Amino acid sequence: MVSLNLAPAIHTRTLDPVRTVVRSLGFLRRTARAQLAFLFAGSFAGLTAAGAFRPAGHVLPWTSLAALVVWGLFFTRAAWHRFREDRDAADVAPAASERTLRFLLLPRLRLDLELGALILVLTLAIVEFTGGARSALHPLLYVVVAFFVSFYPRLLGIALTLAAAALDAALILVRYGPDRDLLVVHGVFIGFFALLNLVFTHTEIFRLRHRGEMRLRHALARVREAARDFRLTEAPTPATDAPLPPDDAAGSERRLRDPLSGTVAAVHQIQETLFDTLDLLRQSLCLHTCAVLLVDRERASLKLAEIATEADEIECGPFGVGDGVAGAAMRTGGALTLGNLRPDYRGLPYYRGPIRVGSFLAVPFRDGEDWRGVLVVDRLEPDAFGGREQKIIVRAAERVARTIQNERAFLQLERTKREQGQLLQASERLSNTIREDDVETGAIEAARAIVDFDFAALVACDERTGRHQVRRASGHAAADLAQLAFDDNQSLVAIAVRTRHYLPYRGDFDARGQVVVARRGERPGMNSLLVLPLVVGESALGALVLAARRNGAFRDDVRPLLQVLANQVASSLLNARMVRRLAELATTDQLTGLANRRTFDGELERRTKSAERYRKPLSLIMCDIDHFKKVNDTYGHPVGDVVLKGFGEVLLGCKRDLDVVARLGGEEFVVLCEETDTAGAKLLAERIRKELAARTFAAEQGPFHVTCSLGVATFPLHASDKARLVQVADELLYKAKQGGRNRTVAA
Ligand code: GH3
Ligand code: MG
Ligand code: MG
Repeated sequence: MVSLNLAPAIHTRTLDPVRTVVRSLGFLRRTARAQLAFLFAGSFAGLTAAGAFRPAGHVLPWTSLAALVVWGLFFTRAAWHRFREDRDAADVAPAASERTLRFLLLPRLRLDLELGALILVLTLAIVEFTGGARSALHPLLYVVVAFFVSFYPRLLGIALTLAAAALDAALILVRYGPDRDLLVVHGVFIGFFALLNLVFTHTEIFRLRHRGEMRLRHALARVREAARDFRLTEAPTPATDAPLPPDDAAGSERRLRDPLSGTVAAVHQIQETLFDTLDLLRQSLCLHTCAVLLVDRERASLKLAEIATEADEIECGPFGVGDGVAGAAMRTGGALTLGNLRPDYRGLPYYRGPIRVGSFLAVPFRDGEDWRGVLVVDRLEPDAFGGREQKIIVRAAERVARTIQNERAFLQLERTKREQGQLLQASERLSNTIREDDVETGAIEAARAIVDFDFAALVACDERTGRHQVRRASGHAAADLAQLAFDDNQSLVAIAVRTRHYLPYRGDFDARGQVVVARRGERPGMNSLLVLPLVVGESALGALVLAARRNGAFRDDVRPLLQVLANQVASSLLNARMVRRLAELATTDQLTGLANRRTFDGELERRTKSAERYRKPLSLIMCDIDHFKKVNDTYGHPVGDVVLKGFGEVLLGCKRDLDVVARLGGEEFVVLCEETDTAGAKLLAERIRKELAARTFAAEQGPFHVTCSLGVATFPLHASDKARLVQVADELLYKAKQGGRNRTVAA
């Protein structure tokens, strides 16, 4: 039996070393194959140091020639693999996550390192061949170092540079002995080249990145400007020098909501259509130039919006409306034509220098009520434009106006659709919440879906007392206002709640002069503010406050939508309050605000179970006011109620955190004490008794005092279940009454 048991053990033990050796060999082979190129590069460097490439006569020994051939094989192999990696990575990269890409890049880095090592050792061999450290070709080594530092990842570049310095020093030591000057000069040069290129490369990268960013910013600014010229964005556009949005999830979401998304397409659409119209006009009427100039809101200046021309010297503006004939046509509001123009004529501001054209026509066009711009055409011939041509150009001008109008209407439609979608989502979310807390948080989130802001708060108002309380605050310096309570005052919030009207006018805010909730200067740095009263029917429940650093954040483009949101928030808030009120009604006693019998029953059930499970005592104090009927009879029922309330206060004042106090009905009260034995509960009961006895009640007939009797029992010591616990405590209370009242009887 024993030998049978031993056999497999011996068997495995004899096999173990063999397996280990086989495994180790396999590992060595795999590592060696991966590291073969490095091993070879090392050996090649060794050969160089041993003088294999120092010419004896002009021929190299066959070992050196063989080494060069093997070098060639290794280099070709590494280069081929590297090329393949590049191609594969290019195939996968677009779909690959960043993580995957890192793994894809790993073999490439190893191959790069292999190639670098091979190039380095060959360079050293060439240097050795041409005369060693004093060779005229030695600077080749610096070039190679510069290459490493510039094109390799920083760490690899530095590693290869160090290897170059070390090998160079080794070759000097072998060939010339410890020549300090030579060693220092070479070391310094290698370091200098590496550093120079490192600095240069990184400055260049920084410069390119910066230039890219600036270009992007200019492109954005151009689109914004064009959108403003076409009046596509009624919303104030963000400042052009604002930092680019961060490239994170929130950033991209913000970009989606950016008034510019969609605007870019609209701007391009208008520009394309305008150019087509102008070019068609130019070709069919043989014009020299055909251009659209747009006027700014103040009708003070004109700017070139689109042009089809044969001329090279064009001025884009803006030009004053007072300068030139285009402005004159705008001012008079009618077509204006000129002929026989001389080269020194200065009335066509969109040309730089002397003009070549002989005749000119300007047709102003409107957008609704307002003049929007001028269509200007000219040609080289001196004859003024005739009636038929004028008619065509007037119609073209109308078409230009319609193009701009249509695109704006379309853009606004898109925007409205998107905003209404957001509002719908927000109100669905809001109407699904029944907790006040959720409504308050949801309100701020929903507002954020409509407009960007830097600070938001929800202030609740108690209409009875006129007291306001900040229930939620988020964003810039929100902690300053958290839970702040204030009375009806001259703040914007209080006025908005009183007047049921949003404030301030147009959302323009002056932190120094205007008070948002309670103090002067409490929202410094904010230039826009909107306080929306939360109104349902006749009552105002509070206000939603939004603030932003930028100017004009809450103008006509977003405010109506936010007002709709505020109404929605108000009705959700009212619902939530009603639900809370109902829950309170169902669980508390109206007169004293204590838990009612229902709540007490639930608590008793829960706590007896938990006492049973954790084997902890649970005590019940049953209280009853003595001769309460007499109080009612002597002082009247209302005074009796005051006594009941007073007793409730006494109980709340004496109870500990985890105790439950309930009014079971009439003048019967209970205190349920968790993890409390009879002695502890009796102490509490005595305190209650003394507190009540010490309390003075007032009545018309004069001040009076009341007392109470209490019974104390403990689960599971005196009662095996909850019903029995109540019964025992009641019996003990009865005993206290029997014993003369104003006393505690414990089991
Ligand atoms: P005892 O010392 O034996 O308890 O005498 P008591 O007069 O307090 O007797 P009992 O407990 O039977 O009296 C209960 C009285 O409490 C009857 C009722 O008029 C009065 N009561 C019950 N509910 C209310 C209430 O909500 N308000 C007022 N003011 N009185 C109430
Ligand atoms: Mg009583
Ligand atoms: Mg009673």
